[in-house]
Amino acid sequence: MKNVLVINCGSSSLKYQLINMENEEALAKGLFERIAIPGSKLTHEPIGREKFKIEKDVKNHTEAIALVLEALTDKDHGVIKDASEIYAIGHRVVQGGVKYPESVVITDEVKKEIEKFSDLAPLHNPANLMGIEAVEKAMPGVPNVAAFDTSFGISMPEKAYKYAIPNEYYENYHIRRYGFHGTSHMYVAQEAIKFAGLDKDTARVIVCHLGNGASISASIGGKCVDSSMGLTPLEGLIMGTRSGDIDPAIVQYICNKENKSVDEVLDILNKKSGVLGMSGGVSSDFRDIENAEADGNNLAKVALEAFRYRIIKYVGAYVAVMGGVDALCFTAGVGENDKITRQIVGNALGFLGAKVDDEVNNVRGKRTMISTPDSKVKIMLMPTNEELAIARDTYRLTKK
Ligand code: AMP
Repeated sequence: MKNVLVINCGSSSLKYQLINMENEEALAKGLFERIAIPGSKLTHEPIGREKFKIEKDVKNHTEAIALVLEALTDKDHGVIKDASEIYAIGHRVVQGGVKYPESVVITDEVKKEIEKFSDLAPLHNPANLMGIEAVEKAMPGVPNVAAFDTSFGISMPEKAYKYAIPNEYYENYHIRRYGFHGTSHMYVAQEAIKFAGLDKDTARVIVCHLGNGASISASIGGKCVDSSMGLTPLEGLIMGTRSGDIDPAIVQYICNKENKSVDEVLDILNKKSGVLGMSGGVSSDFRDIENAEADGNNLAKVALEAFRYRIIKYVGAYVAVMGGVDALCFTAGVGENDKITRQIVGNALGFLGAKVDDEVNNVRGKRTMISTPDSKVKIMLMPTNEELAIARDTYRLTKK
């Protein structure tokens, strides 16, 4: 049985997908919310059939996993007979440091390392680890694999990942650019090379992962050469609620002006900035920002313009460092749904002979070549599939 269960664990949530690796199709997916909080709820969706919900309080992730297994094997809503039909489990882990440039089979040592990297990802790594330990208890003997969000970015050259701060901070605390959304960037870049028929060893690809969190990567032959996110996911593009790049002196200035701590200002930069902050609080959801712009809200208009301008700036920089670009890809919520962002960013490379075909670009969520046939750069909408990327690694590493 070649089914891989992919798990993405948050501190109080657990997203999962069961994928049949024979045809790479999802059998079921679901979300457990409010784990260890009163009002726990599991929404389970056997693909192609109706969703169903279980509302039952669970005390921890182990109990949540047990209910997920019940749902997967339920005689009415299930998709497998019993848990023995699950071949292996793949876990999304946010921070793997430089130690893990690739996914890895989880051992006690790997768990210790994940714990060690928690100070770099305090919101995510401890929750990821809870998921791993819960699965180990619920399904003893089934192999677990960790796929790290940071793996893709580890191949960046030193000149791209080093910050211009005293070197001792790099030596002592591993402060460097890591790049996040790595599984998505890797998957989209690899699929783009296949889709556009490019040379797998030399193709220069830029991936714009534009969701609530947003990042851009540049890769050559599928190997990352630069990425807009840094030590944390705060750096780079303007996002739903994150500021992206700012002058670090702004932090000190706000602290002094408003008598706030550094932690408080960082919280503002993470949770109250981005298009939410720029629009004067309209929303972090790009659909709401677009609607507000259409209603004549000037702050929303400027927020959208700045969001797109920042993307163009990064794309231009990455074209320059790679000496050109063969494929420009758009993915995630905004990238897959917002044709205007794709049109504006794609046509910004007009000076290289790139052109978006407006008619073809009128599409959502579907793998599509949106550039004109004579465009010098292949521009495409490439839906991301992080779960499948994790499942592929999990299967490859555990296959007997
Ligand atoms: P993600 O983080 O990948 O789930 O993406 C979520 C973001 O995609 C949200 O800000 C949504 O507003 C945005 N999004 C979804 N549909 C659209 C759309 N039709 N136009 C613009 N943004 C969209």
